[in-house]
Amino acid sequence: MTAPVTIAARNVVKAFGAGASAVRALDDVSVDIRQGEFFTLLGPSGCGKTTLLRLIAGFEMPTEGQILLDGTDISTLPPNKRPVNTVFQSYALFPHLTVAQNIGFGLQMQGRPAAEVKATTERMLALVKLEALASRKTSQLSGGQQQRVALARALAPKPKVLLLDEPLSALDLKLRKEMQIELKRLQLETGITFVFVTHDQEEALTMSDRIGVMSHGKLQQVGTPRDIYVTPVNRFVASFIGETNFLPGTTVAGGVKLGCGAVVDTKTARNGTVTVAIRPEQVRIVAATEAGAIPATVTNLVYFGTDTHYHLSLSDGAEVVARQQSGAGEDMLQPGTAVALRFAPGAAQVLED
Ligand code: ATP
Repeated sequence: MTAPVTIAARNVVKAFGAGASAVRALDDVSVDIRQGEFFTLLGPSGCGKTTLLRLIAGFEMPTEGQILLDGTDISTLPPNKRPVNTVFQSYALFPHLTVAQNIGFGLQMQGRPAAEVKATTERMLALVKLEALASRKTSQLSGGQQQRVALARALAPKPKVLLLDEPLSALDLKLRKEMQIELKRLQLETGITFVFVTHDQEEALTMSDRIGVMSHGKLQQVGTPRDIYVTPVNRFVASFIGETNFLPGTTVAGGVKLGCGAVVDTKTARNGTVTVAIRPEQVRIVAATEAGAIPATVTNLVYFGTDTHYHLSLSDGAEVVARQQSGAGEDMLQPGTAVALRFAPGAAQVLED
């Protein structure tokens, strides 16, 4: 059963400034974020992800459209009246307070009884595994520990929705990977809806239930990590997430005819000139003599240890990258070698533009 929608954006436009210098940070964005979901807004710098987060938090109001919480329009509700909390990139902790005082701060502000503040703080300390550091000042913590305090503080009042704005970007790679697992665990244990903002496609793919890919203030595609990776709707999504080969072609019965004359089996409702996208791991290099395969020449190779990326040229000059897993004792193909290519069945995707 599909979970109910917790947060919805309906035709949201957010413009900053007026006249010729106006910036349309969000341009008719509509999305449903479901209860208990780990939803990620992914896109390059300036695409509008933080603006959408700030509208959900209540720090900004939409120029047009609505933000709904459980079906009710909250567009004009101030931040402190929304059951929504935010974890910022900078953590924004109080350096003169201890870890426990930071975590209990929001609850105290809400006037909750001291016994409840203490019990919740202890539960949160255990959740983020910081019991041993409860009485330390936050200025004496590592980046990863500060991040945990920020998370615990935001989770303590049991918000319906937790917004996370690039919360891992200040951490080094190893710690970031650990915190990715930690965040996912916290989300599963608390059942709270997480809306996570990142420009890191790998982070989005590994952590999210669903991803909304944004560019120029628009949501380009919303789907599971697999949907987005396997069936990107357009060139932007295909190139922003993972590596992709783009091959121009023309539609024919049953597929697309590439510039080199080969016909790729693929489904499309489009007619005329199109672009076919195919991931490098879906391209298999076979012997030049293999019947029905697409002739190609190796132009370059890049060795990555676990796999090798072969750059190949088709007869019309189009370039294709094929990723081959490294095998023990295998000879690598050298530039100039004549080979042939096969695309994995169903792997070629015709893009919208
Ligand atoms: P980043 O990853 O760099 O934070 P982002 O995707 O979160 O980028 P936003 O911060 O949402 O992008 O910004 C979207 C656009 O709106 C940008 O062009 C930005 O310059 C503009 N913008 C954001 N806030 C304001 C503001 N207060 N006044 C004017 N322009 C703004």
